[in-house]
Amino acid sequence: MPEPTIFELSSPGRTGVTFPTSDVPESPLPVDFLRSDLPLPEMSEVDVVRHFTRLSKLNYSIDQGIYPLGSCTMKYNPRVNEMVARFSGFTQTHPLQPLETVQGNLYLMYLLQEWLKEIGGFAGVTLQPAAGAQGELTGILIMRAYHVDRGDTRRTRILIPDSAHGTNPASSAMSGYEVINIPTDPRGNIDLNFLQSVCDDRVAGIMITNPNTLGLFDQNIIPVIQAVHRVGGLVYGDGANLNALLGIARPGDLGIDIMHFNLHKTFATPHGGGGPGSGPVGVAASLVDFLPGPIVSMVEEGDEDIPPFFGFVQPAKSIGRVKSFFGHFGMMVRAFTYIAMHGPEGLRKVAENAVLNANYLLARLRNTYHVPYDRICMHEFVLEGRWKEVPEIIALDISKRLMDYGIHPPTNYFPLIVHDALMIEPTETESKDSLDYFVDAMEKIAFEARTHPEWLKEAPHQTPVRRVDEVKAAKELVLCCQPIDRE
Ligand SMILES: *Cc1c(COP(=O)(O)O)cnc(C)c1O
Repeated sequence: MPEPTIFELSSPGRTGVTFPTSDVPESPLPVDFLRSDLPLPEMSEVDVVRHFTRLSKLNYSIDQGIYPLGSCTMKYNPRVNEMVARFSGFTQTHPLQPLETVQGNLYLMYLLQEWLKEIGGFAGVTLQPAAGAQGELTGILIMRAYHVDRGDTRRTRILIPDSAHGTNPASSAMSGYEVINIPTDPRGNIDLNFLQSVCDDRVAGIMITNPNTLGLFDQNIIPVIQAVHRVGGLVYGDGANLNALLGIARPGDLGIDIMHFNLHKTFATPHGGGGPGSGPVGVAASLVDFLPGPIVSMVEEGDEDIPPFFGFVQPAKSIGRVKSFFGHFGMMVRAFTYIAMHGPEGLRKVAENAVLNANYLLARLRNTYHVPYDRICMHEFVLEGRWKEVPEIIALDISKRLMDYGIHPPTNYFPLIVHDALMIEPTETESKDSLDYFVDAMEKIAFEARTHPEWLKEAPHQTPVRRVDEVKAAKELVLCCQPIDRE
């Protein structure tokens, strides 16, 4: 049967349910609320199932194949996480329930906080923020509260490397700070000389990503942190790239004062369908009083006979709430399960294999593509998506052509300091076979660029929607089904 090409499948009079004849007296309906012109689709049950199954196949997901979207850590989401998240003790609870009836849930949150502290090397953690970006905003507000609390009100600047994710300057600006751009040196590290030249008592702090968005471990990290601390500034770590460090290095030990964790990246909770994510924030001992509250705490320790009792505590100088209730609890259950299933050894293996997979791809692709900062990478790396010999081909063409090979494109045009950047992050959950499939496709595309550049220019050829007008798609959002007028 051909795939239906129209969205409008409704047919007047068709229905998915038939009610038995009522055996109780009818009661009158409130006339004011009745509408005769409710344009709901009229469809049978099987039509609805087919419609949504068909739609689900138009999309691409990690359950279909490799998803090397750099910086996003699109790793496989283990099914056991989903199974545990569906336990009725987790799904059938309400945030306003009396504390003594939700002790298990609070214990899970408490343990997750403890584990994130241990993994990151921090003294305190809040689970409230709903995403990495909200974690950043939380962290910068904590930074500001810390300085103001000490009467240090003249600090107006946040330093941010030019390779940073756009959310870093956005979070700083939203918190009322001026952003000072720090250049990257030729090896892909923070330019230490420039940094030192702008370190003074106007600096509230720096936001750094390590490994950075070039996928490189910043070799200047210790002197950078020292330079900022020396002038009284704080160091915010963008934890989006923690997957490379798990069980190997702890950001807190490096001197990072505040960091967000992206549970939907490092800890395998789904990125799905626009959310929800989760971006807990860890802080050093000097900052725990400023964390958003309330925070789950063990309010009574218990003993052999009485279990501990968990409740909520508001940190003394808290910046306040950043999220209603306690954050995205379902994501906490998944991340908790992921950490529990791996254990410390397993988490270290995650990082080792993520780095190994990225270096394998880099080693196989560096002869075909130009690598602007070519050294051993961490969990991801950045290629240039262009060749001198075929100037008409840009990174976007390569990405669109990858879709014809059934592969989700890498991240395009980020970081901004690389022309036509293709940022590739395979993650640890890809086998050698799928890595090889990706390399084969990338090599074929490099060959096609020279022999049939139009195949790239016109790609994708195999997808349900061909090349979209990305500006129009962003500027003229159509987010819901619009009923078609029927005569
Ligand atoms: C993903 C990402 C963020 C933002 O995290 P969200 O959870 O998407 O809000 C910030 N910085 C970097 C480097 C990232 O990759």
